[in-house]
Amino acid sequence: MGDYEQLRDPYGRIIDYLRVSITDRCNFRCVYCMPESGFPVTPKEESLTNEELVRLIGIASTLGMSKIRLTGGEPLLRKDLPEMIREVSKMPGVREISCTTNGFMLTQLAAPLREAGLTRLNVSLDTLKPERFEPIARRGSLQEVLDGIQAAFDEGILPLKINCVAMKGINDDEAADFASWTLTKPVHVRFIELMPMRWSLDETPSDFDAFAAHGEKGLLQLRQARGDMLSDSQMRRMFVSAETLQESIEKVHGPLEPAEIATNGPARTFRIPGAKGTIGFISQITNDFCSKCNRLRLTHDGFLRPCLMSDGELDLRTPIRLGASDNEIRDLFRHVVAHKPERHYLAEGQKVVGRGMSQIGG
Ligand code: SAM
Ligand code: SF4
Repeated sequence: MGDYEQLRDPYGRIIDYLRVSITDRCNFRCVYCMPESGFPVTPKEESLTNEELVRLIGIASTLGMSKIRLTGGEPLLRKDLPEMIREVSKMPGVREISCTTNGFMLTQLAAPLREAGLTRLNVSLDTLKPERFEPIARRGSLQEVLDGIQAAFDEGILPLKINCVAMKGINDDEAADFASWTLTKPVHVRFIELMPMRWSLDETPSDFDAFAAHGEKGLLQLRQARGDMLSDSQMRRMFVSAETLQESIEKVHGPLEPAEIATNGPARTFRIPGAKGTIGFISQITNDFCSKCNRLRLTHDGFLRPCLMSDGELDLRTPIRLGASDNEIRDLFRHVVAHKPERHYLAEGQKVVGRGMSQIGG
């Protein structure tokens, strides 16, 4: 990293982390992320090729972006993923190459990904109860994801983090169970606050009837039956704060003690005394970490975004396909960093209307 430039935004934040959404396709349909039918997928020619992605990541790495996370959509669906990881992990400026996945294909891919140079892994998992898995993810099964997590452990891909999105009335009663998992496994469970995202349809009178009759579970079932994703207002109502989750864990396990792990990122991290793993809270809504944000996001179709929650983005695909030089692309990175918003305004009612989470890369 030695001689590389270091990007700094107008608020003094050092930008050294690039999240790359390598595909907008997914084999799951999580209710807070996508409708049952999925989003219209981008034609292949509009998505960046492996070569184009690797080139852009390489340019970013020469600007001091030393941490690279590959996400999506579901990144494990891209057949060229091991090849991409191999190329990126050879870059002298890259210190860390990680991946966020739903874990469904990990049993087959844990070994090739580790061999290619993957250093860290986040697996998303919202429930430990088999009967709840399908209503939330609408595809796959809990056992397949747990087998995938075990395969990653067996390959020694550590640290292994579990991302859990808590929803009131759906899975918020499982926080203490997730915490129990950390007692015996060196797993880092991180609870992520539910974020109201784009494409969520407004509620209809039948939504309100279902809610009145059966609470959030009734609403979820109705939306399931119709193939919708959760609406913006439903997500706001299902919201559970990190603080509430911590309280429910402490009721069962007693006071948590602060813990440090090398890759805390924006999570506030704790441990049940004596536990092998840790428990983290990512409270981007109630206690935003914007003042410490060190990220840019690159979409699978080549747009660079300074903020997950603001729709502004800059097209890099057109310039690279028109023959722009590395220096010209570096200037575009600098331009985006110069326009990074100070913070998000979700608490004030801001809505993301341009792209969904699976299209930006969560
Ligand atoms: N498919 C991969 C996965 O699920 O891990 C990677 C992409 S997914 C968009 C990345 C993360 O975003 C997941 O942990 C998922 O739970 C989270 N996510 C998606 N929609 C969300 C929302 N509305 N609020 C909070 N987290 C969300
Ligand atoms: Fe797919 Fe991940 Fe979105 Fe679930 S959260 S639908 S696994 S992209």
